Amino acid sequence: MYQSLYRSFRPEVFDDLIGQEHIVKILRNQIKSGNVGHAYLFCGTRGTGKTTTARLLAKALNCTGEGEKPCGQCPECKAIAAGDFLDVVEMDAASNNSVDDIRTLRESVNFPPVSGKKKVYIIDEAHMLSPQAANAFLKTLEEPPENTVFILATTDPNKLPATILSRCMRLDFRRVPERKISENFMKICKEIGVDADPDAVSLIASNADGSVRDGLSLLERCIAGSSKLTREDVLFLLGISGIDTYIKITDKVIAKDSAGALAVLAEVLSEGKEVLQFAKDWVEHIRDLMLIKYSDDPQNIINLSKENIERLQDQAGRISISEISAMISTLSKLINDARYASKPRVLLELAIIEMCY
Ligand SMILES: [Zn+2]
Repeated sequence: MYQSLYRSFRPEVFDDLIGQEHIVKILRNQIKSGNVGHAYLFCGTRGTGKTTTARLLAKALNCTGEGEKPCGQCPECKAIAAGDFLDVVEMDAASNNSVDDIRTLRESVNFPPVSGKKKVYIIDEAHMLSPQAANAFLKTLEEPPENTVFILATTDPNKLPATILSRCMRLDFRRVPERKISENFMKICKEIGVDADPDAVSLIASNADGSVRDGLSLLERCIAGSSKLTREDVLFLLGISGIDTYIKITDKVIAKDSAGALAVLAEVLSEGKEVLQFAKDWVEHIRDLMLIKYSDDPQNIINLSKENIERLQDQAGRISISEISAMISTLSKLINDARYASKPRVLLELAIIEMCY
């Protein structure tokens, strides 16, 4: 049966997890000293390893192997990885968020583990619980049953009630640095017998924007059954509308190089990108530049990886606020007009020429 790269390369032991060393260190210490908490809150952007880490912790708590836990080899570790271990329950709060769902959970919590040492409940997208369900769940957290560990994973901890937050040990997952994603993907390519160009892999890593899951799905689409991976393959699939394109076209406008900017646009549109969408994404890019120019802590406002923020910071240093303002108003007007235009491309070309003069 075919398995996605994301599934086949899911970390089985802590050493395989990349970019979350600060969390691994804490969990390893707690596991080693037997000081594991009753409730954890794993926060962070999608694809950074929250659910994977929750499973690693669940395995470690039930592992019967030798040496470091989880071993990834014993029957318990294997059953948990396969999703058929009765004492590890995964629940997606996005689709099971009613009071009844939580009631069922609370009833099952009262039974001791069937075959394992600890019962582990992994509640994904925990911020999606309804207020009533969250309230019902709080009662369980207040009187945690013995041998039970709750792991709540969320992309949006601010949506959870303070009463729940205060009862969990919070661990914040970081976006994974590009270099780590690249190294990891080069290893994966080698393992699956794909001859990958390092440039191609780093381009994928920069577009993954800190999410291993997004990166792997991109890698998979770029490889598409081939045994070679070149930068051209990646550019072709990305439709060159990644951050690099917006940096490039904005630089042309800053340099008042209208011919250059029109050439970038032609290239993008020939890849099938839609005019209006391109203009909207471009406005987003300029807005990011503006925020970066006036923020001491851009990482908290702009949802991008550290490396991409550095790229933006670099460009923000080359553009003035009056240029930013002029570009945003010209592009916004264009987006408005283009909705009713029969040839929106001409309007965008005109807007580019205007911005260059
Ligand atoms: Zn094990």
